[in-house]
Amino acid sequence: MEQGKTIAAVSTPLASGGIGVIRVSGEKAIEAVSKIFVPSSGKSVCDMKGYTAAHGYVTEGERKIDEAVLLVFRAPHSYTGEDVAEISCHGGVYVVGRVLRAILAAGAEPAAPGEFTKRAFLNGKLDLTEAEAVMSLISAQGEQGANAAMTALEGALSKKIRAAAQTLITDSAYLAAWVDYPDDEIEEISDEKLLTDYNCVLNELQALLNSYDAGRAVTQGVDTVIAGKPNVGKSTLMNLLSGFDRSIVTDIAGTTRDVVEDTVRLGNVVLHLADTAGIHSTGNEVEKIGVDFAVGRVERAMLVLAVFDLSRPFDSEDEKIIQLCKDKLCVAVANKDDMAADFDRSRLDCFENVVYISAKQGKGADELAAAVEKALGTNNVDTSAALLANERQRLCCERAVACIKEAIDALRAGYTLDAVTVSTDAAVDELLALTGEKAGDAVVSEIFSRFCVGK
Ligand code: GDP
Repeated sequence: MEQGKTIAAVSTPLASGGIGVIRVSGEKAIEAVSKIFVPSSGKSVCDMKGYTAAHGYVTEGERKIDEAVLLVFRAPHSYTGEDVAEISCHGGVYVVGRVLRAILAAGAEPAAPGEFTKRAFLNGKLDLTEAEAVMSLISAQGEQGANAAMTALEGALSKKIRAAAQTLITDSAYLAAWVDYPDDEIEEISDEKLLTDYNCVLNELQALLNSYDAGRAVTQGVDTVIAGKPNVGKSTLMNLLSGFDRSIVTDIAGTTRDVVEDTVRLGNVVLHLADTAGIHSTGNEVEKIGVDFAVGRVERAMLVLAVFDLSRPFDSEDEKIIQLCKDKLCVAVANKDDMAADFDRSRLDCFENVVYISAKQGKGADELAAAVEKALGTNNVDTSAALLANERQRLCCERAVACIKEAIDALRAGYTLDAVTVSTDAAVDELLALTGEKAGDAVVSEIFSRFCVGK
């Protein structure tokens, strides 16, 4: 990216709204805006100080195209660290587009996706985890996700990772000084001290990795499939969780052939729910396609709600569901508790989590929420603490852990300290890649390309 360029984009959604914001950033941002914005005070835009606002008109030649408010931020005290101007005009799709065209004609260039935040990163206003938190905050679907993103934006993860890297860097520097300047009476650092430090860092990183899945479940939601033989009440359960009638509920087995999907909040967790066709043996070719599809969904899901019907005896079709869920994260939902008959409940002992509900009467949703949270381990997720937010961060952390383990093994095996520092230096590189201090250009570009234009 050419940082010298002055960039502009619409930062608000391209839809009718009260206000639309056009953001401009770069060395020539104020100069470009001065060509199209006339303050009603009669003063010059170029004389505006940072953190000041002016009422005025956006113009195209002699013609006024909108009444607007201009905000000016002066480098380095802006989001990007550069001179930034924000024009808040009327939020009509046409008007906003016209103001953008005017600013482009005045010398700015269209911003790429995430380019404002990328500049903030390159100018040291944010590190990579904080930039990723901006994106998480924008895409958060609920309170927990937004809280976790805010915690990351405030630097909780960065602080933790930097502290871990600093411990390793300090030890390595000490070792290097001791090896390089043997005459300078630098006291030898003991293996115990190194082992204590490395184990301490290892535990911190391991704790982050351990909370990753549960954290993601809370912040991003969990792909969940409702599975069971026909007529056990899958659609009724889906409707109970969705809060309104989405699936077709009938007494005729096999009505739900297509997958019905919805995103629902259950306790602390967001579930991306799919209600599938009843899984059973069938000679009907069309039904068979639905059943195969349902089985595939179960295999790919992160969580399965396996539904059983208490009003009918346990049978071989139920057994098939148990087999299908064998290695899956699963909650057994024993439904129709209001008309429970001779179902052998001990058949469900193989499940770690079983809840008895009546989907039709709306009973048991709280118990189901608690069981889901228990299965996912989300009841202990603290969104005010540092959490790894995505696969990139998790992989960096995982590789750092592997390197530290190597260093510990090398120390224990009595290898030379050079061998130990090679591993700890590699761990430091991974940690600094996580925060972005040592991330490659390709990685950085990839991350920001996923942002929206105008952010
Ligand atoms: P699916 O084929 O598994 O999706 O089952 P449905 O949700 O279509 O339900 C099949 C039948 O069971 C319908 O008549 C529902 O009204 C009934 N049903 C579902 N849940 C309950 C329940 O908790 N109690 C009772 N008594 N009937 C239920």
